[in-house]
Amino acid sequence: MFIDSAHIYIKAGDGGDGSVSFRREKYVANGGPDGGDGGKGGNIVFQADNNLRTLVDFKYKRKYVADSGQKGSGANCSGRNGKDTIIKVPRGTIIRDSASKGLIADLIENKQEIIIAKGGKGGKGNQHFATATRQIPTFARAGIEGEEVEVDLELKVLADVGLIGMPNVGKSTLLSIISKAKPKIANYHFTTLQPNLGVVKIGEGTSFTVADIPGLIEGAHEGLGLGHEFLKHIERTKILVHLIDLSGSEGRDPIEDFEKINLELEQYSEKLSGKLQIIVANKTDLIYDNDIIDGFTKEMKNKGYEVFAISAATTKGVNELFNRVSEIVDSIEDDFSLEEVHEVKYIKKDEKLFTIKKENRIYIIEGQWVKRIFKSINTDSYDALKYFQRVLKQKGVISELEKMGIEENETVKIEDFEFDYIK
Ligand code: GDP
Ligand code: MG
Repeated sequence: MFIDSAHIYIKAGDGGDGSVSFRREKYVANGGPDGGDGGKGGNIVFQADNNLRTLVDFKYKRKYVADSGQKGSGANCSGRNGKDTIIKVPRGTIIRDSASKGLIADLIENKQEIIIAKGGKGGKGNQHFATATRQIPTFARAGIEGEEVEVDLELKVLADVGLIGMPNVGKSTLLSIISKAKPKIANYHFTTLQPNLGVVKIGEGTSFTVADIPGLIEGAHEGLGLGHEFLKHIERTKILVHLIDLSGSEGRDPIEDFEKINLELEQYSEKLSGKLQIIVANKTDLIYDNDIIDGFTKEMKNKGYEVFAISAATTKGVNELFNRVSEIVDSIEDDFSLEEVHEVKYIKKDEKLFTIKKENRIYIIEGQWVKRIFKSINTDSYDALKYFQRVLKQKGVISELEKMGIEENETVKIEDFEFDYIK
């Protein structure tokens, strides 16, 4: 299918470290603790945006990092929070965790937002750790790292307009006119099939996309050839432009062609056959009898269709067609109802906070989190150590040690620091 994709790295901001600071007052030997908290790191937020149609921007910028929180400082000053980074994506963009391919989010509504990577909390300053028995807290907490994740973005590139019709009626020719209109999608790569997709820009901020659907042939609904895939794609277009070779240059009967294609659509899906169709009589440059054009136009109008007579070869009538199509496209909302996945959920990476291994009767605790907590304490301070022990207990490190059969006075090691295990 026409799936556009991108792979990007995102990282939320780290939390700022809490500060260790004491009030300094003249003639007062030991002021109280006044270390402020670190600020929170900025989130990475994805936002659906109506104005975007493709993921082309992500081919150029692949790394997004949100601001970190500032460190806390003395005089109870909290660090500033990091700003969120907002990443705008087209509506219909699906976000997956690259590693597991699990669905993280599916952005459907305009302006819908979701936090994909959460900024780390700021560390608490030492002002929070003073107690009656611990008046000089010599530690503060470090900020937590912002979440980071690699994500795959996927977008079913939706053409607003599906160009349908029998082979050789002039679909590619019409699209080639469109593609000459600026801006065309330059160097635009699709991961799978290359659809013939063009952008028609009518005026400032007004454009629509057209896909040439070359596979529409008899039997397409039975999955013959490429037809089926293409039909699936055009189910999401807003309207169909049905091109007909009115000149009969290929020895075809225009009305018969029209009916054949519509039968094909009906057999495929109601959704498709119910779509608004604009009938375009092409190759009028080859027609010298105006009655043929008038007669066909009349017949189609009687069936309730709008009809345009054009020549893709000479571009006669093409502007009028595009202007009208643009009007219609603007008046129809995008249809996202066919999206298979609508639920929005956040997949938590199953991160392990720590690991413990036993070497030569020494229990070695490792892991980013332990390292971080450890870095934030002053190992010369008894208070800090007690605090550290409590954290180890809360996070299940102690119970894990016990599970491994640790005994009184055996050695536990974290980084370069060793201590005896005491029950
Ligand atoms: P598709 O199969 O529907 O994509 O048709 P193409 O765009 O490939 O056109 C088939 C043939 O018809 C080509 O030889 C075109 O040059 C020719 N053709 C397309 N549009 C016109 C037209 O408006 N006038 C004339 N005379 N020939 C056209
Ligand atoms: Mg073609």
